[in-house]
Amino acid sequence: MITSQIELKPKVNAFLDGNKELYINGEFVPSVNGEKFEVYNPATEEILAEVSSAHEEDIDKAVKAARNAFEEGEWPKLSTAERSHLIYKLADLIDQNREELAQLEALDNGKPYSVALEDDIDGTAEHFRYYAGWATKVLGQTVPISPDYLNYTVHEPVGVVGQIIPWNFPLSMASWKLGAALATGCTIVLKPAEQTPLSLLYAAKLFKEAGFPDGVVNFVPGFGDTAGAAIVDHDDIDKLAFTGSTAVGKSIMRKAADSVKHVTLELGGKSPNIILEDADIEKAIEGAFDGIMYNHGQNCSAGSRVYVHRKHYDRVVDELAKRAKEVKLGNGMNPDTDMGPLVSKKQFDRVYGYIEKGIEEGAKLVAGGERPFDKGYFITPTVFADVEDNMTIAREEIFGPVVTVFPFDATEEVIRRANDSLYGLAAAVWTENIKTGHKVAHRLKAGTVWINDYNLENPAAAFGGYKQSGIGREMGSYALDNYTEVKSIWVNLQ
Ligand code: ADP
Repeated sequence: MITSQIELKPKVNAFLDGNKELYINGEFVPSVNGEKFEVYNPATEEILAEVSSAHEEDIDKAVKAARNAFEEGEWPKLSTAERSHLIYKLADLIDQNREELAQLEALDNGKPYSVALEDDIDGTAEHFRYYAGWATKVLGQTVPISPDYLNYTVHEPVGVVGQIIPWNFPLSMASWKLGAALATGCTIVLKPAEQTPLSLLYAAKLFKEAGFPDGVVNFVPGFGDTAGAAIVDHDDIDKLAFTGSTAVGKSIMRKAADSVKHVTLELGGKSPNIILEDADIEKAIEGAFDGIMYNHGQNCSAGSRVYVHRKHYDRVVDELAKRAKEVKLGNGMNPDTDMGPLVSKKQFDRVYGYIEKGIEEGAKLVAGGERPFDKGYFITPTVFADVEDNMTIAREEIFGPVVTVFPFDATEEVIRRANDSLYGLAAAVWTENIKTGHKVAHRLKAGTVWINDYNLENPAAAFGGYKQSGIGREMGSYALDNYTEVKSIWVNLQ
């Protein structure tokens, strides 16, 4: 493996050397029982840090701090413009620390540093700026009833919010949850994934520096079945927002029913990427490859099912395989790296298990499927051809750099097959006929459809799932609804 590395920034070294504790009520504190957990660098399998591990008592402390900050003190008294300014300030501080945050993301998650810098960290700052703008624009309605009665609505913050996020875009996923919640005036208890808590803990001090009152944000790293479950079960949390696997999302929804907590879920996907007969094939091949391989396939909207018109099938399979073989795997902290390791041993085993299953069920492995180095959770980009619709690798979310490629003959047929999934997060269609593009987009059961592109995202563009891919939408004005209650106020004018 190539060894030359990007030099760590002094602030990153200092952060890694220091205590990495829970951020509750504006302070860094150890967990009540003193427990810590280890965080690994997935490129080297070495321990990167030890982090305090939140349990039920810590979650209770965090919820009390968030409740207090929601009901009393400065936060509820701020004007919406003051709230907006705090979020803008935070975005500026993220900019000022972008290299440090990107280094931590590359070390902790494994993704290439340049991707962490431009996509994850700059995207996070932009996401906060977008919602800073919304803080002053959360409007109610005045409702015409009669000359004798006035009715109007106010959109109030829902209260204390519990947020649980995954490890694929650690800080960026936090910003998706925090942006709208802060803009609407909620207070938050957020649990990062146990694999990747570092960038958020580094960012905690930026929230303090920006001037957010204590208790408005609380960050509680820990495991799903301890810290996560304690958030889901806590009686004084008004709303849960979760991004992660469909299995955990279902269990959260069941448990939340006990206290009728509001729930939004952003779950798994098995997204179809459809190349029609009249597509610009070069662009479509590039879109199909990047659509699945971006972030090593660890992306809920990854285009994992590529459907290709039979006329182009052999060429597309060959080109995908060729590109897969050209990808330079390596440590995310090496400037030459195209693709880093998967995030953890668990994820490596899971993805590798699917590759074995694909071979066992008779799919044709045309590229990848190997562990290229002795150390690190690397898997070479993998392309399966001749995949049948009912094979496991065609139906289940793999969440790794593994693409399944299918031929089709007719547009009606491919729409039916694309929609034949438990999931409905994203889809794409490639065609040079824009009318066809729109028509197919309308027929696909997915929360996002790209025409002649893949993986476009923007804080202004709604994102979320049909079917078992989730409930609710993040981003855009839609995310504000997740964090507000509508109050209808009547005035008797007689
Ligand atoms: P993955 O298997 O890819 O890690 P998960 O859905 O298990 O995906 O994890 C996503 C997030 O959900 C993580 O922060 C994890 O700690 C958390 N989580 C896992 N299990 C639970 C649970 N039972 N209750 C609450 N949160 C959980």
